[in-house]
This record gives sequence, C-alpha cells and structure tokens, in this order.
Amino acid sequence: MVGGGDSAIEEGVYLTQMAKSVTVIHRRDQLRAQAILQKRAFANDKMKFVWNANFEEIKGDGDAITSVRYSDKVTGEDHELNAKGVFIYVGIKPMTDAFAGLGVLDDNGWVITDDQMKTSVPGVFAIGDVRAKNLRQIATAVGEGGLAGQGAFTYIQDLADKDLAATAQ
Ligand SMILES: Cc1cc2nc3c(=O)[nH]c(=O)nc-3n(C[C@H](O)[C@H](O)[C@H](O)COP(=O)(O)OP(=O)(O)OC[C@H]3O[C@@H](n4cnc5c(N)ncnc54)[C@H](O)[C@@H]3O)c2cc1C
Repeated sequence: MVGGGDSAIEEGVYLTQMAKSVTVIHRRDQLRAQAILQKRAFANDKMKFVWNANFEEIKGDGDAITSVRYSDKVTGEDHELNAKGVFIYVGIKPMTDAFAGLGVLDDNGWVITDDQMKTSVPGVFAIGDVRAKNLRQIATAVGEGGLAGQGAFTYIQDLADKDLAATAQ
C-alpha cells in the first residue's frame, strides 16, 4: 500500500483479511489518516510500515508483480520488497480539464452539481467520480446516473414544449 492517508490505511487494513501481510510505504514519518484508522492499523499484526520512503518502481516477471523498489529519504539507500500486489493511494485528480471553461469546477477540479446532478450550465449534468462529493463508489455513480438521465429527459422535453408553443403562436 502506497500512501498514508485515510484511503491507504482503510484499504490496507481491509486487505489483511486476504493477504499474509500488508506493508504501507509512506513518504513521511507518521500517517495522515484519521486517529481511529491509525489505531486499527497499528493494532493489526499483519500491518507493517516503511517510513520516510519514496516509492520508486514496481517490478514483475511479465506475468505478475514480484517486488517493489523504494528509496529511504533519510539515507538515500534503495530497497526492494517482495510483493504480489500494489495499491497506490496518493491522492486522486479528476480528468475534468475539458470542462474548465464552463465554470462548473471547484478549486480541486471536481464538478459541482446540485442534488439533481445539474451543473450551473442548463442542460449539462455530471455524475460519478468527477462530481464534488463524499463517497465515490459504483452505487452512488449508478444512482446519480438515474437522476441525471431523468433530468436530461425533462430538460429536452421542456425545450421541445417551448418550440411547440412558439410554433403555435
Ligand atoms: C482501486 C479501486 C477500487 C475500488 N473499489 C470499489 C469497490 O469495491 N466498490 C465500489 O463501489 N467502488 C469501488 N471503486 C470506485 C469505483 O470504481 C468508482 O466509483 C466508479 O467506477 C465511478 O464510475 P464513473 O463512471 O464515475 O468513473 P469510471 O469508472 O472511472 O469511468 C470513467 C470512464 O471515462 C473514461 N474517460 C475519461 N476521460 C475520457 C475522455 N476524455 N473521453 C472519453 N472517455 C473518457 C475513462 O477511461 C473511464 O472508462 C474503486 C475504485 C478504485 C480506484
């Protein structure tokens, strides 16, 4: 597990149910995760920690991951650690640059919508992980899709109704 925030530690502890051991490689000398998550992680015998380390490389044999390489930020030494899986949780960046000109993004690039998935631009909706929200999961994305679909349908229907009314006059 690479990272020391909430996601890295929560997922790391979860993975101990399947893995023999989980090593957290973190660039600082303490975790950023909330206190309760740290407590759970430190109480778990399967959790190991490598502090002050820069994650450098994932190595494999062509079919599978075999090890990872990291460097010690204090000594500058390189280390290799056998590993069968790597999970990187060092922050996420939404791919929303294309929408920057619409004025619908917050300071971190997430799309701002109301609870009906409408952005501030009429007819433009946003759903899923790109939205500014607390929980990024399949269940939330799917629910939002339903709302946006319904909203888009109504929006187009309203336009058609306006066209009809204009033609009738
Ligand atoms: C490691 C990991 C584990 C997860 N585990 C779970 C889990 O157990 N349960 C759960 O519910 N959720 C889980 N999630 C979260 C879940 O995957 C997301 O919440 C969900 O996929 C969001 O759906 P989405 O459609 O918004 O985005 P995505 O699934 O990311 O889909 C976006 C799609 O848009 C495409 N795209 C991007 N830019 C462009 C472009 N310019 N033009 C065309 N296409 C583009 C991408 O290639 C991608 O296919 C996990 C996420 C990660 C990273």
